[in-house]
Amino acid sequence: MPELSEIPKKTDFGESWRSFPAENSWKRQLSEAIRSVEDLWRRLRLPGEMPLEVNAASDAFPLVVTENFLERMEPGNVNDPLLRQVLPWGDEIKGEAKVLDAVGDLEARQAPGLLRKYHGRALFIASGMCAVNCRYCFRRHYAYQEEPRAMADWEPAFEAIANDESLAEVILSGGDPLVLTDHRLGEIVARLEEIPHVKRLRIHSRLPIVLPDRVNRPLVELMTATRLQAVMVVHANHPRELNDECLSALRRFVRHGIPTLNQAVLLRGVNDDAGVLAELCESLVNHGVLPYYLHQLDQVAGVGHFEVPVERGLELIAQLQNRLPGYAVPKYVREEAGEASKRPLSPLSQH
Ligand SMILES: *Cc1c(COP(=O)(O)O)cnc(C)c1O
Ligand code: SF4
Repeated sequence: MPELSEIPKKTDFGESWRSFPAENSWKRQLSEAIRSVEDLWRRLRLPGEMPLEVNAASDAFPLVVTENFLERMEPGNVNDPLLRQVLPWGDEIKGEAKVLDAVGDLEARQAPGLLRKYHGRALFIASGMCAVNCRYCFRRHYAYQEEPRAMADWEPAFEAIANDESLAEVILSGGDPLVLTDHRLGEIVARLEEIPHVKRLRIHSRLPIVLPDRVNRPLVELMTATRLQAVMVVHANHPRELNDECLSALRRFVRHGIPTLNQAVLLRGVNDDAGVLAELCESLVNHGVLPYYLHQLDQVAGVGHFEVPVERGLELIAQLQNRLPGYAVPKYVREEAGEASKRPLSPLSQH
């Protein structure tokens, strides 16, 4: 495949490239992510002894959080809404009998690394790793170790995509696809470009939020130079996640013409509040990012302490509708195994 620098660009952005971070600074930051609960406890000066359950919960699904995300948390506050998303918590291992594969991923697996549930688009599991392990993650039980790592391992997935002419869109997902190197992403995109019926490339990633330096020049060049229409979907749940660094990273996509959307998960003790959600949505639209989905939590094992009842979610959406422009209100949805799309949870009638 050609070097990225040889690919002709649709637009020459000249000067604007200067504001981009050093190409590889994100790699060092990723390798230095915090992986020890003791470190986290100490760094944030959390009060008292660390509860033993924290260790037990992190044995089941390890703690991972970037330094950059940690810096946005309030020291000393165990209930900080950002900390709550990443701190292993005792409730996770209390025996609530929820299923492991709530969203039917196993049945949707078309080839190693390829999930197909909906018409016209398929999910390409580009990586099993993330820069932050979100405690509520619906894929926390997914068997990533069985998914491809080398380009050759993905051939059956590329073949399945090539054999299904209805697939106009491929969604790079995971885990987080942006933990892959620019080189590897380039190889995957080049392979997808060879399939004529594939028209769109969507990237689902939390890195622009938790590791803003990942939005480097090669990534934005890759997304603007490909013949595929690129769409970026990021994942932020609380307005405090959107610090200046993160907002500039989002701007880099937007300024270069890449449609950029946000999905959030409705989480008890994080964003189950109309003021918090309104601030998140406003901050996003002020920087050119549209709120896409607000997900009802999936019923997976170990996440019950994050659950917000649907009636409450509907109330929150009604309050957002009263406060925000229509385009700033996300669609409130739930994923149900076997359905043809994410199911919209209908809004309350206005009163
Ligand atoms: C959520 C999801 C998609 C994307 O759905 P959209 O409604 O288009 O955002 C695609 N494939 C799978 C398997 C999904 O879970
Ligand atoms: S970034 Fe996404 S895939 Fe990774 S742990 Fe968080 S929710 Fe799960």
